[in-house]
Amino acid sequence: MNTVALPEGAGRGAEETLTTMSDIHYPFYLIVDEPGTAGAGGPRRLGVPGGVSYLQAGASGPPRLLAKAPAKGEPACALEAVGGARPQLLLLSPGDARVRVNGQPAPPVALLGVKDQVQLGGGPLLHVTAYHAARVGPTPADQVGRECPVCRAPLAATTVYVCPGCGTALHCEVEDKGPDRLECARLTSECPTCRAPVVLEAGWAYLPELADG
Ligand SMILES: [Zn+2]
Ligand SMILES: [Zn+2]
Repeated sequence: MNTVALPEGAGRGAEETLTTMSDIHYPFYLIVDEPGTAGAGGPRRLGVPGGVSYLQAGASGPPRLLAKAPAKGEPACALEAVGGARPQLLLLSPGDARVRVNGQPAPPVALLGVKDQVQLGGGPLLHVTAYHAARVGPTPADQVGRECPVCRAPLAATTVYVCPGCGTALHCEVEDKGPDRLECARLTSECPTCRAPVVLEAGWAYLPELADG
């Protein structure tokens, strides 16, 4: 977790310095650590949608993410995926919400990443994780003929990796292309255009060991 130091009264200014990318599918999930769920269907997972959402996860009901700030009831934290190539979860905690991050009282503004833990007012522990979708497939039509930034050769209709951060396509040809296949996506750990990590396998970035598991 990183703490964001905001100057006095700088709420709005700080928002402007963060890149919000609500138009891109964001991979964050909150996994609810509560007893009795490890067997049947696994733990509850809350997918964090694009844009701002509001988290209620105190003792009075099951954790939920709301599209609007609740008018009444227990206090809610605002949550938003921010940051572009290496997204993080921005967590805004109202003073009366008794929020803990990784066991410590949360600052009013915090940036969470995979493996961080959040707890609201006596509710269950929520583990932050991310799901990487499989992004290897046929060259998208709008990328055919563009230059692969790794090898500089134009992309034909082949198999490519598409960066989730910026949409750049990198060669990721498979065995049937023979020994001369271009595997540019395997040669780099980050996107040459936007520096987002290259993740070739679909799957969870992290799955917590649940107390009940
Ligand atoms: Zn290439
Ligand atoms: Zn990229």
